[in-house]
Amino acid sequence: MTSEITTPAELKKMDPVFGQLSFDNHEQIVFCNDKDTGLKAIIGIHNTVMGPALGGTRMWNYTNEWEALNDVLRLSRGMTYKSAITGLNLGGGKAVIIGDAKTDKTPEMITRFGQFVNSLSGKYITAEDVGTTTEDMDRIHEVTKFVTGISIEKGGSGNPSPVTAYGVYMGMKAAAKYQFGSDSLAGKKVLVQGNGHVGETLISHLTKEGAIVFVSDIHQDKMENMVAKYGAQIFTGADLYAADVDIYSPCALGATINDDTIYKIKAKVIAGAANNQLAVEAVHGPILRERGIAYAPDFLINAGGIINVYGELVKYAEGEAMRKTENIYNTTLEIFSFADKNNLTTQQAAMQIAENRIAQRKKENAAK
Ligand code: NAD
Repeated sequence: MTSEITTPAELKKMDPVFGQLSFDNHEQIVFCNDKDTGLKAIIGIHNTVMGPALGGTRMWNYTNEWEALNDVLRLSRGMTYKSAITGLNLGGGKAVIIGDAKTDKTPEMITRFGQFVNSLSGKYITAEDVGTTTEDMDRIHEVTKFVTGISIEKGGSGNPSPVTAYGVYMGMKAAAKYQFGSDSLAGKKVLVQGNGHVGETLISHLTKEGAIVFVSDIHQDKMENMVAKYGAQIFTGADLYAADVDIYSPCALGATINDDTIYKIKAKVIAGAANNQLAVEAVHGPILRERGIAYAPDFLINAGGIINVYGELVKYAEGEAMRKTENIYNTTLEIFSFADKNNLTTQQAAMQIAENRIAQRKKENAAK
């Protein structure tokens, strides 16, 4: 503590956990350390009112531990909203492992992490995320049952990306209906930024429907693959955000809607898979609204993946995950309508509905 810190307010700013900017009344934060395997992980349990906190484990080479803590706080909160708006009986949680997934990950480290998950007795249930794989989940499954996203051979639901992509496609169609008066994407110009697991399946749905798809990725071979397989066109303009398209679909990274990009965007619809697309929700949400851009909230339309892994816990009837994912279309339309009626951004509208559901369930739980 430095000598300049004198007031209680200044001291509060220094609070390492509960004073973090991303802290949002999280229920529990678990720091996991194992000297033998080099594991350093943080499990964030944001809210368990609706059910156990389910969310993936991200392995990332964070610059420092603050960054890792901030990420797990932000991501676990997002999961609470995602599950609540989707109508799943799940709370919000997420985990991060500090390290480079390519060079630092070992089977022993993953097993040890699984043991930490197990020690929480089901309050937190893990799954894959950036830097972890189905194979890792299978390994975790050897030491705990509180894991989803395990391989089909081991009784799981496998790769969730195709279901996520289908949900994004449904959300995009709903946003188009709201904005253009028809949910047909035939002839619409769509720019898909990020041509990975989700991006590719989304592109296949779009081109099948007759949309004119432009692709952008940091890997040239991925873009060329989209051209060869689906007849997409590589975006060659100088500035992707200023592209003359109807729909912008961020499927790579978060925070692409920020101070530098927001006033350049010409698209009238934004609908994509990336998490946390708005750099600052309270700033960039209202600007999109003022500019008449229909934004389909990311945590709503990219929920197909969690719907799919949830099926592992509740043993869905066949086709149920896809049916629930298809319903993202209706929910997205409801959000646009609720936002207009209440003079809210779509992000605020979706969050408000999710919060109401959680408050209602809290009451019901208390009355039991
Ligand atoms: P992925 O890693 O398979 O694909 C991401 C793609 O984006 C890669 O091809 C990568 O080369 C590209 N990329 C990275 N930086 C880029 C940049 N600056 N510009 C253009 N392209 C760039 O990931 P994914 O599974 O397809 O997920 C895509 C996004 O959706 C991620 O943000 C992820 O968190 C989110 N998401 C995925 C799922 C899922 O089920 N996979 C579920 C919910 C949310």
